[in-house]
Amino acid sequence: MIYQVIVDISNSQVDRVFDYTGEGISVGSRVCVPFGNRLIEGFVVGQKETTDVPISKLKAIERPLDDFVALSEQILGLCSFVCKKYHLRLVDALRLAIPSEMRANRIAPLVKRKARLSDLLTKEEIFSRIKQNAKTQRALAEFLLKEGDTNTEVLSKRFGYAALKSLREKGIVETYDVTVKRKPYKAVSDTLTNHILTDEQTAAVNAILDPVPAEFLLWGVTGSGKTEVYMSVIRRVVESGKTAIMLVPEISLTPNVLKLFRGRFGDTVAILHSGLSAGERYDEWLRLKRGEAKIAIGARSAVFAPLENIGVIIIDEEHDSSYQSDNNPRYDTRDVAQYRCRQNGCSLVLGSATPSLESFYKAQNKEYKLLTLSQRINKMPLPDVSIVDMTEETRAGNNDIFSRELVEELTRVINEGNQAILFLNRRGYSSFVMCNKCGYVAKCPDCDVSLTYHKEDNLLKCHYCGRQFRVFDNCPKCKSPYIRQGRVGDQQVEARLKQLFPDVKVLRMDADTTQTKDGLLKILDAFGKREAQILVGTQMLAKGHDFPYVTLVGILNGDQSLHYDNYLAAEKNFQLLTQVAGRSGRDKRQGKVILQTYTPRHYCLQYAARQDYLGFYKREINLREASEFPPFSVVARVMYTGEESQRCIDLLNRHYADIEKLQNTYPDGFLFLQKMRCPLRRLQGKHRFEILMRLSNACAEEILETIYKIVDKDTEDKVLVFTEVNPQNLT
Ligand code: ADP
Ligand code: ZN
Ligand code: ZN
Repeated sequence: MIYQVIVDISNSQVDRVFDYTGEGISVGSRVCVPFGNRLIEGFVVGQKETTDVPISKLKAIERPLDDFVALSEQILGLCSFVCKKYHLRLVDALRLAIPSEMRANRIAPLVKRKARLSDLLTKEEIFSRIKQNAKTQRALAEFLLKEGDTNTEVLSKRFGYAALKSLREKGIVETYDVTVKRKPYKAVSDTLTNHILTDEQTAAVNAILDPVPAEFLLWGVTGSGKTEVYMSVIRRVVESGKTAIMLVPEISLTPNVLKLFRGRFGDTVAILHSGLSAGERYDEWLRLKRGEAKIAIGARSAVFAPLENIGVIIIDEEHDSSYQSDNNPRYDTRDVAQYRCRQNGCSLVLGSATPSLESFYKAQNKEYKLLTLSQRINKMPLPDVSIVDMTEETRAGNNDIFSRELVEELTRVINEGNQAILFLNRRGYSSFVMCNKCGYVAKCPDCDVSLTYHKEDNLLKCHYCGRQFRVFDNCPKCKSPYIRQGRVGDQQVEARLKQLFPDVKVLRMDADTTQTKDGLLKILDAFGKREAQILVGTQMLAKGHDFPYVTLVGILNGDQSLHYDNYLAAEKNFQLLTQVAGRSGRDKRQGKVILQTYTPRHYCLQYAARQDYLGFYKREINLREASEFPPFSVVARVMYTGEESQRCIDLLNRHYADIEKLQNTYPDGFLFLQKMRCPLRRLQGKHRFEILMRLSNACAEEILETIYKIVDKDTEDKVLVFTEVNPQNLT
């Protein structure tokens, strides 16, 4: 038989199928094959009777690598869809579908060696064979007699390896190997909760379980019981003999979520998460593969979980930008999940309190079925949000990072013995320019996005159209000289808190203090136990954590990401503020939120303060339509990165010329086309350039296909080229 093999090397030169001979190997297996003058790993993606390759050139597969077929037919189909849709190399797509630890034999099942007394010997025979003076051997035998089979590690630690060895040589003790499963989050205790569903929850569950598959958007405010809906659906799906995938943003896969699912579903749940050790991740994957676990929970890549007969895929917090990967391989989890649901004839559920504009728009257009949970389970009102105008503070002579109201509220909360979270918005801290007095922010007149200050040439630039402006010394609006570029750091906040409240314990949670999984958990745990009264942090705080004693959330720079140079800025900011505000008053205590801003009248903040998703949606979708941004168009960019900028520029220019010609074929297809440096000009020593486009929805697919061809045809050594469609991040 001739097998078609993709070798496990990510390189454009070998991005094709190679023919090998072999016998009795299944398509989807991982194999070891000779390639050039070495042996490497590969994936069998097909088989056939004959080949055009001359017999003398044909090599044989060395051996299969696993005792199971790593990639099912369905997963192969999914990978080739992903590969085509995102213009990836097939090997990069295939790599998504198996744990990286498995490749290059970096991991093997965890094998434990156990010892037992030979069952061919009677008790008398055993002890008669041990010499009178061999006390340790005797003790070991007695131990085994009493305790039964025991790990050899335990035995040799206790009785010494020599004793074990000589008993084995005498045939008294025999050893054997067992494969053990590493069970992640052992510390997470299993709890069982069961609720009687509310009418809205019941309606949602029944709709999702309808045998006719559909795509649902479950829109429910925080605390409205979405998780309960997911669990009910999953339980019914598993009871009917099918499997389920539940995706959550990387950052919100907290012990709480795991506890819930472990409690409800026990060992039928497998967790796929980058926080696990390599061994744990591999074992969990294998449990799914072997059908021992039926529910996969995990971040983005769990959409490739090795399950068969899937009954539902759920994407929680569907608006979260982590569902789109922004490094290779780039893909959008929602598209992959949708395809996988269609393969399985099952339903897809997207859930969120603040759905992405795109998803809500689809729901409005009946592409998704909208399910609504309109009430919080505990009927607690949403927290009271107060917007503080920081320009007002400056005018009143307060130049502190804390407004007077925030200091007052902090004092109150501390005196009451409750807790507060202070939140610093870090997203898009790129240096925008703002007047401290009137809040004026320099914007591009053509694109309505904030201009970015470029230090190297001392200019303000629009990252959408490339227009440039001179830097101003006085505010163009109010003539004030207090122009600020910048951001406040959380260390600064911590230091200021120490001055204001010297006796209060403060915890800080950010990328520096939470390098490890444990670092994050430790801080959350300490705060949960009320070892500190104030927690300072960034985005990480926005998700999923429940602290009943938190009655105040202060948002120090509520508008910062509004000035981000991206059409998604308002949407992302709205989502973030709504999430953060939701951290206050989760339990029986009414919560308060203080939102400090220099642009108090910005619609985004106004709607966020009222937690008015629908109002925000209507306003924002109209803006997008008027300005022809997604979902009313497709944003695409072709990126060029490399150490030698001239090589990048040359290649970019050649492609650009071809794309300009394409514009003649599709006169209405291009709403915008520009070449430029990326906002982030250099990253890790590599220069970055881009061709930025907005394409009409009608022609986008055709145009992109042609662009892929243009990009593939003409390549340049040492220049990495990739294309992104509707990227979340345009830096
Ligand atoms: P969401 O995911 O929408 O934020 P959750 O599913 O976490 O909401 O529910 C919020 C809280 O309400 C949880 O503590 C949950 O246990 C509880 N809860 C959910 N559904 C019910 C119900 N039907 N009856 C009682 N409590 C419920
Ligand atoms: Zn512009
Ligand atoms: Zn001004």
